[in-house]
Amino acid sequence: MKNIYFDNAATTFVDGKVLDTMLPYFSDEFANPGGSYTAAKRAKKAVEDARECIAKIIGAKTSEIYFTSGGTEGDNMLIKGMVYSLRPYRNHIVTSVIEHNAVLNTCKYLEKQGSSVSYIPTDKYGFVDMNRLKRSINRHTAIVSIMMANNEIGTIENVEEIGRICRSMKVPFHSDCVQAFGHIPVNVNKLGIDMISISSHKIHGPKGVGAVYIKDNLSIYPLIHGGNQERGMRSGTENVAGIVGFAMAAKLAHEKMTDNYMYCCRLRNYIINRLRKEFDDVMLNGPDCTMEKMSGTRLPGNINISFQGVSGYSIVDELSKRGICSSSGSACSQSKKGPSHVLMGIGLGEERASSALRLSIEPENTFDEADYVISCLKEIIKQ
Ligand code: PLP
Repeated sequence: MKNIYFDNAATTFVDGKVLDTMLPYFSDEFANPGGSYTAAKRAKKAVEDARECIAKIIGAKTSEIYFTSGGTEGDNMLIKGMVYSLRPYRNHIVTSVIEHNAVLNTCKYLEKQGSSVSYIPTDKYGFVDMNRLKRSINRHTAIVSIMMANNEIGTIENVEEIGRICRSMKVPFHSDCVQAFGHIPVNVNKLGIDMISISSHKIHGPKGVGAVYIKDNLSIYPLIHGGNQERGMRSGTENVAGIVGFAMAAKLAHEKMTDNYMYCCRLRNYIINRLRKEFDDVMLNGPDCTMEKMSGTRLPGNINISFQGVSGYSIVDELSKRGICSSSGSACSQSKKGPSHVLMGIGLGEERASSALRLSIEPENTFDEADYVISCLKEIIKQ
């Protein structure tokens, strides 16, 4: 049976070059970077080189990068860390209704601890309501957290504008860039972002590693205390192999970004256009990237469609029987049945939200694979 992977927003395979870069750190170069002998210094240098690589890619200083276990930890670390350092004077958070659960559940946790949270609505494409955002920020706001790109519908937010608003109101701005990093340019200075979280496994790096950027004038409380690794911001012996692999994956993604972007946009639009041609009742959820004026507002690899009256879960099951990996929402919410909070958040009714299918593509996917997926969908929807 064919094995076609169209779930690249959930995770990606580890690139061969990335794996080769990591392997020595499991064997010959296994030393703890905290040691004082030569082998330990080599491990330390590998971590610092990786830090420099990530910093360069996002236009930051090396001293502003901290390695984490991934996007979830990064979101928790930055939102909680900022609130803990500013409360009780500033104990208010501004975020959006379509954030990843790593952000939303962190906010809910902080609400239980006494924080107040403004959840900003979006329009039908998933673009955050800027007026509501502006009006929600007040002198008690500790942090604004708005994602750069949405994991379910691919909407690319106007983070540059949000950065301007936050700067003018002197409020720190965090952006979850997990889905954006490696796919579209993320330059923290150009975009005016104070903190970002990124993750390795979305860009052909290993799972369980990521990083945060914290602008060097900001002081946030660390969540993990211990041996003072990562300059006290994130204690714990460094995941040297993971960190080195992450940097290599980031470097490769950055080098190939323009070509990958162009190819994925072409394949994405081909699939959307063919689906529209083949099915009367297919609806695109999120920005209509086939329209000239919206072409740059959706992640190149994201397709999210609803087939009226057909359950998204059953389509995913049926595709799986035909060797195709897809998703009906985000991987992290698969255990929670029911319509996605993102699709409900952009105002889709329960029926349309429950009939959603996410196909997330990457440059290894081919037009032939796309044709096969479409022919399977024809069979499934007819059934
Ligand atoms: N934020 C977004 C937007 C994501 O898509 C994900 C993962 O799907 C995460 C955070 C969590 O990242 P990780 O899996 O590295 O914990």
